[in-house]
Amino acid sequence: MIQLKNAQQIQALKDAGKITGEALLAARDALRVGMTTYELDKVVHDYIVKAGATPSFLGYGGFPASACISINDEVIHGIPDRKHVIQDGDIVKVDVGAYYKGYHGDSARTIPVGKVSEEAMRLIKATRESFYAGLAAVKDGNRIGDIGAAVDAVVCKYGFSTVRKYVGHGVGRDLHEAPDVPNYGTPGRGPRLCHGMVIAIEPMVNVGTYEVYELPNGWTVKTRDHSLSSHYENTIALTENGVINLTLIEEDF
Ligand code: MG
Ligand code: MG
Repeated sequence: MIQLKNAQQIQALKDAGKITGEALLAARDALRVGMTTYELDKVVHDYIVKAGATPSFLGYGGFPASACISINDEVIHGIPDRKHVIQDGDIVKVDVGAYYKGYHGDSARTIPVGKVSEEAMRLIKATRESFYAGLAAVKDGNRIGDIGAAVDAVVCKYGFSTVRKYVGHGVGRDLHEAPDVPNYGTPGRGPRLCHGMVIAIEPMVNVGTYEVYELPNGWTVKTRDHSLSSHYENTIALTENGVINLTLIEEDF
């Protein structure tokens, strides 16, 4: 069932979203060649805890860290690791959740490190652009399928492919709520968008095939053909006063 949120709940989600966005910014500012993904996770963890919140992902389904950190052909759910050193030319996906006063924020960015390829930069740009196309489809009278169709149209325009196996979702007291928010779809299909809906729109975009597989660790998802993958996510709310981007802080990246 889709849980609609009232104004007070949306304010609480905004507070959680702000901490989430700021934790991502802290990760971006700390990210250096030679750093381990474990060290980057610690930056996220410490920021969230200092802000008086709890890392949403830590212990979620047994996940052992505060951020999902996925590099290059890793799509999502990468596990921070003391042995994984970030290299010049990597694209690093950092996915963060903060739980504050009973509500979650969920947001992800793809951060280029040092000198990355032109194709990688184009992929990151396409992914962000596809999110904003999806966001523009969030309006009265539209349906969930309109969001996915808008996201996928941008991805197709760039010649990339949209991951289908993993999707966006409702956000609230639980990190993952109904409805599913696929990054592909048919306009006019799916649940109707209405005031009080809070969802994470999170395109995952691959240079090559849309197919992915999970590593034996039970978490890390990679592209089937080992092509690069990018991820961009914000938690947003549809209210009677329009759309609010709950996890976007002043500086987008
Ligand atoms: Mg996320
Ligand atoms: Mg999410």
